[in-house]
Amino acid sequence: MNSPTSGSLTSLSLAEARDALRKRDVTSVELTEAHLDAIAEARVLNAYVLETPDKALAMAKASDAKLAKGEGGPLEGLPLGIKDMFATEGVRTTACAKILENFVPVYESTVTSHLWRDGAVMLGKLNNDEFAMGSSNETSRFGPVISPWRRSGSTAAIVPGGSSGGSAAAVSAGLCLGATGTDTGGSIRQPAAFAGIVGIKPTYGRCSRWGVVAFASSLDQAGPFARTVRDSAILLRSMAGHDPKDTTCVDRPVPDYEVAVGRSVKGMKIGIPKEYRVAGMPDEIEALWRRGAEWLKAAGAEIVEVSLPHTKYALPAYYIVAPAEASSNLARYDGVRFGVRVPGNDITEMYEKTRAAGFGPEVRRRIMIGTYVLSAGYYDAYYLRAQQVRTLIKKDFEDCFDAGVHAILTPATPSSAFGIGEKSSGDPVEMYLNDIFTVTVNMAGLPGIAVPGGLDAQGLPLGLQLIGRPFDEETLFSLASVIEQDAGRLTPARWW
Ligand code: GLN
Repeated sequence: MNSPTSGSLTSLSLAEARDALRKRDVTSVELTEAHLDAIAEARVLNAYVLETPDKALAMAKASDAKLAKGEGGPLEGLPLGIKDMFATEGVRTTACAKILENFVPVYESTVTSHLWRDGAVMLGKLNNDEFAMGSSNETSRFGPVISPWRRSGSTAAIVPGGSSGGSAAAVSAGLCLGATGTDTGGSIRQPAAFAGIVGIKPTYGRCSRWGVVAFASSLDQAGPFARTVRDSAILLRSMAGHDPKDTTCVDRPVPDYEVAVGRSVKGMKIGIPKEYRVAGMPDEIEALWRRGAEWLKAAGAEIVEVSLPHTKYALPAYYIVAPAEASSNLARYDGVRFGVRVPGNDITEMYEKTRAAGFGPEVRRRIMIGTYVLSAGYYDAYYLRAQQVRTLIKKDFEDCFDAGVHAILTPATPSSAFGIGEKSSGDPVEMYLNDIFTVTVNMAGLPGIAVPGGLDAQGLPLGLQLIGRPFDEETLFSLASVIEQDAGRLTPARWW
């Protein structure tokens, strides 16, 4: 690349930027400056809640010194954005919650430390729903993220999805080469689908949860956002890996996921679950799903209908298990050890005032539901029952995989992105329904990837989801790259 302009630097894929850095066609400082400029020009999107330009440039300089000597890790010099759920040492980490507004961790999350170990550069912290509870990024204490996408012919603000809305908007708008996300019920895959990019939630246990602000510990997983399947494979390889500090994190070698990109899918059996054909789903989603299956078939895969009979119970069971675990995890925000404190006449009043002032309405709702379903009189009726349903959901998938299915293809979301305010003012269940295709995957602990499938009639992105066998992320990357080749990359028209 001769005298690259900053616009072209921010539209490179992560793999292209990596190769350009290694050839010394561009420096990490140039790449980082181009992204910092892009971030400054896109503040209207509200994707970043904290920019760390000094840190970014210092890291970029250190990377350039290594690259000049022909050294450096797999991500050397590549600028990334970090969801504000990941603790970053010395850098404010709030989970976009008021109660953590003054929290500066003295430690680094394992996932982000893996990224820095491999040479990545941190541009800043990205917006998300408060404590990652939401599907539109409207519950953040920093305000909503505006999607870089708009309906054709309209200037109405659209949600980027949630909870990782900042990550999705930043990657899609060229404000970083890739980003981290967390996914408890769909928070990587749903925003990736809404923003026309790639997002993977790996198998539960593939990435360490240590240093990630806990929402629902048996469901939470970290994963990457990127503009291409290859880029997401490169990022996941760095993020994943054993960590003795998280006992649910597996000790199993991390494959070179990039090798799986473009690998033949001939002979693979792809399941189409009939229960995912939900009432009221737009025809366009149906058509997208059919197209996805045809692309995989044309690449040599076999398409079979499968049944996941307990799917209809997944959403209600999730909205018992997730709040139950959240109510327990969020008990630590008591105004004593860290975060915000509102004084009271005695300790009980201090707790009450702190928690009333520190948590937003959605988080309060989850804590109340969680406390209720765990209470002595209702534990068996709700929590225990939900755990039993969870086992059945997992078994549905196991039966499918035992019958020789390699992966399952579904739409990622039941619709394209909606407008800001459209679903956040009334019944919360309307918002919860967004996760209908993604929560099952967390309940079963399986890997799931969202990959762009095309645009709807309004010009907004639609995504497909592939669900894989435990620890078989490689198959997902191979299949997703087939879809990517047919659907192409989706880039929003710049208006900001
Ligand atoms: N939207 C879902 C919820 O609100 C999932 C969130 C997530 O995956 N963090 O719980």
